[in-house]
Formats: sequence, C-alpha cells, structure tokens
Amino acid sequence: MLSDTIAAISTAVGEGGIAIIRVSGPEALPEVQRMFKSKTPLTEAESHTVHYGHIIEPQSGERVEEVLVTVMRGPRSFTTEDVVEISSHGGVVAVKRVMDLLLLQNIRLAEPGEFTKRAFLNGRIDLSQAEAVMDLIRSKSDKAFSIAMKQSEGMLSSKIRNLRHILVETLAHIEVNIDYPEHDVESLTSQFIKDKSSEVMKEIDGLLHTAEQGKILREGITTAIIGRPNVGKSSLLNALAQGDKAIVTDIPGTTRDVIEEYVTIRNVPLRLLDTAGIRETMDVVEQIGVERSRTAVSEADLILLVLNSSEPLHQDELELLEQIRGRQVIVIMNKMDLPSQLDRELLTRYIAEELIVPMSVKTDEGLDGLEEAISKLFFSGKLESADLTYVSNVRHIALLKRAKQSLLEAYEAADQFIPIDMIQIDVRLAWEQLGEIVGDTAHDALIDQIFSQFCLGK
Ligand code: GDP
Repeated sequence: MLSDTIAAISTAVGEGGIAIIRVSGPEALPEVQRMFKSKTPLTEAESHTVHYGHIIEPQSGERVEEVLVTVMRGPRSFTTEDVVEISSHGGVVAVKRVMDLLLLQNIRLAEPGEFTKRAFLNGRIDLSQAEAVMDLIRSKSDKAFSIAMKQSEGMLSSKIRNLRHILVETLAHIEVNIDYPEHDVESLTSQFIKDKSSEVMKEIDGLLHTAEQGKILREGITTAIIGRPNVGKSSLLNALAQGDKAIVTDIPGTTRDVIEEYVTIRNVPLRLLDTAGIRETMDVVEQIGVERSRTAVSEADLILLVLNSSEPLHQDELELLEQIRGRQVIVIMNKMDLPSQLDRELLTRYIAEELIVPMSVKTDEGLDGLEEAISKLFFSGKLESADLTYVSNVRHIALLKRAKQSLLEAYEAADQFIPIDMIQIDVRLAWEQLGEIVGDTAHDALIDQIFSQFCLGK
C-alpha cells in the first residue's frame, strides 16, 4: 500500500491567496514532472528547493497554471517519502485543475490523514505524536496549541517509553525467576514487583492528574452567560470577546441557534455558549429567556449569572440561584452606573461574597474584577509556569487508567504471594496498554480509526 503515490489539497477549500497540493510517494517526482515545465527538471532538483514553472497538460503541452513547486526528498520529509508541494493560485478552480491532472497520472487521491499515517507507519512519529498533529490543527487557544506542540515533539511519548522500560525490566526479572525458581528469590521478586508497579503507578497518577487541566486547556471551560432579558448578557459577551480575538463557531448537531465563542481570559480559555436567538426575537424573549438559560446551565462548567443591580431580584432570578447552587458560579451585578436597587444581603444567602462581582459593562468598570474571579476559580494563578506535559486525549486517559488498574492487580497479587507467573500476565498487560498510547502495540483497526478523523490533505 505504501508503494503508491498519493496527493491531496492541503489548504482549506475556498478563496485564498494560494493553495497547496501535497504529493507523496516513491513516484512523486517523476509523476509531477510529466505535467510540469521549469528550468530544472524536478527529478534532478536538490532536496528542499523551490522551483518556478507551469503545470501543463502533458499531451498538448498547454499551460494550465503558474505555480511554485517545492521538492523534499525522503527521508527528510513529513512522510519520510519523496514529497512535492505545488503552490497554485488560490480559489477552487485553479486547484481543481491541477488536482485533476495529477489524478490522471499514476497518483491516487489520499485518504484523510494519510500523509500523517505514512509518517507514523514509516516510523518518523509515534501514534501520540500523530494525534497531536490533529490537536494542533484543531486547537482553539494559544495554550492548547502549546500543549499539542509539546506532544507532537514527543514529550508524552518519552515519558510513556520510560515507564514501559521499567515494566520490561520487571518482566525480565520475573522471567529469570520462572526459569530458575528458588524460594528466597521468589519472595525477593514479589517485593521487586511491588516496588516497580508502585513506581509506575505513581507516575501514571501524575499524568492523570494533568488530564483534567489538559482537557480544560484544550477544549476551554464551557461557560454559560445566563440571566433575565436586558440585564446585559450580550453586552458582557461582546466585552469579553473584544479584549481577545474570539473564534466563533457553530456547534454542529445541537440547537441551531447556539453559538460558541472561544476567548482567553488571563490564560483561562473559555468556550462561551451564546444563545444567539434571544437577540433576534425580542417579543418572545420573556418566555424563552429563562428557558434557554436552564438548558445552557445544564451543560456548563462555569456559569456567569448576570443581574441588573438597578432592579430588585426577580422571582426568576431567585429560582435560577436556587437551581445553580453547588455549581461553579460567578454572579455579575451589572449596571452599577445606575442607582442600586438590588438587595445584596439576600444575594449572599445564595452565593459567597467573593463570587459576586459588581460591574458596569456600559462604562467598562469591573471587568478586571471578573477576570480575576475567573482565573482564581480555575487555576489559582498557577498556570503560567506549569509543565506542559498535559494528557488531554481521552484515548490516552482511558489507557493510562487501564494500565494503572493492571498494575494495581499485579501489586496486590505480589502482596499476597500469588505465584509470579500469574502476576506476569498483569505486568505484561500494563506494558501493552501503555504501548497502545504510542502505537507500539496498537491494532490496525484502531490505527485506521484514529487517522480517519483527520482532515483531507494532512
Ligand atoms: P441581554 O438581553 O441580557 O443580552 O442584554 P443586552 O446586553 O442586550 O443589554 C440590554 C440593555 O442594557 C442594552 O440597552 C445595553 O446597552 C444596556 N446595558 C448593558 N450593560 C449596561 C450597564 O452596565 N449599564 C447600563 N446603564 N446599561 C447597560
């Protein structure tokens, strides 16, 4: 399968300055050369050089497109194969014309993720690094990007390899004992297994500990801004989004009018859920406003409840306060620029004083206080200096948990002097489970499934 040559458009489809088509495989250079005219033939070009020329229709010699072609000879390329990258004019037509011609040569269309898959199969990166490539593409905050970058460089992989090395040593130790069984050696071996499995379990715990934070950094804290109509929710959302360049996306498969925006507040990435529909139909707002808030609340990690401090607490708001008891909540007393009517004492029966933030979105006062409250709530300001080996991938988390369970069983068995050839099975299992993270012991079906989640051209 790896003997064929593949091609795909690697830039996002649509209008843009340029578009890049990537070709990889043993025949990449001669096949592209058949439809390319330039001063130096690609087949004679040195690695890592760029060539100006024209894509031509091979039979007629007719010029199809003016391009720059980059040559990267294997193994010094992303896939470790010969790679040719064609930069053409952007837009759908130019790229499609070049692509159509490529597919008339001895080149086939790449599957999603196939370039990265080849990098993996050719041993240039391991599975967790390949998955990090996907995370890089999908990351929505600077922090998430940094984590993925570290992982793609192999930070997690090297930690996992160290743990597997300890387990291999343990397995070797057990092996010797099985071959030359003597009673005193057996009890020493039990102790050895206990020591080594505790050591590895402790390391796994450390990695799992980062998982929760990793998830937050990668996906953002799902945040719902709730409150009665006209208290200033949209104004707040805009204020938060303004300081930061918000990334706005529709959430596929959910209510059509829910929009998410990614903003970073003092290094805390928030995924703000915005119930956009509220703005459109002002006359039905009274009925649906609170209803929408309830739905948003159920899926949020953080709730920002906005109140209008120039009005007394409304019955709906007391109900909301009741409903969100025990959750991560910050209450924003908005419109502080107006005369206050809100009974703060009544409010403190529902929520701790330090989680109430007075604000005026209109005059820009109190935004600092809100940012402070958010960052305190989530990271106690420790984030900046934190080590970046976060485990954030659910597959990795599940495997770490399973490996830990296997080791726990090995430990307990050793503790009860169960015959060590029985214990060996659990240690081996843990070794395999860790191996699945980096792909050393992963099945083909799993590998296919992971790469199929990639986008085309990567
Ligand atoms: P939403 O319905 O909760 O999204 O509220 P909006 O953000 O649409 O705001 C409703 C009205 O309150 C708008 O006219 C805003 O200009 C106004 N508003 C928002 N924040 C403040 C504030 O801090 N002070 C004052 N005086 N008006 C505000």
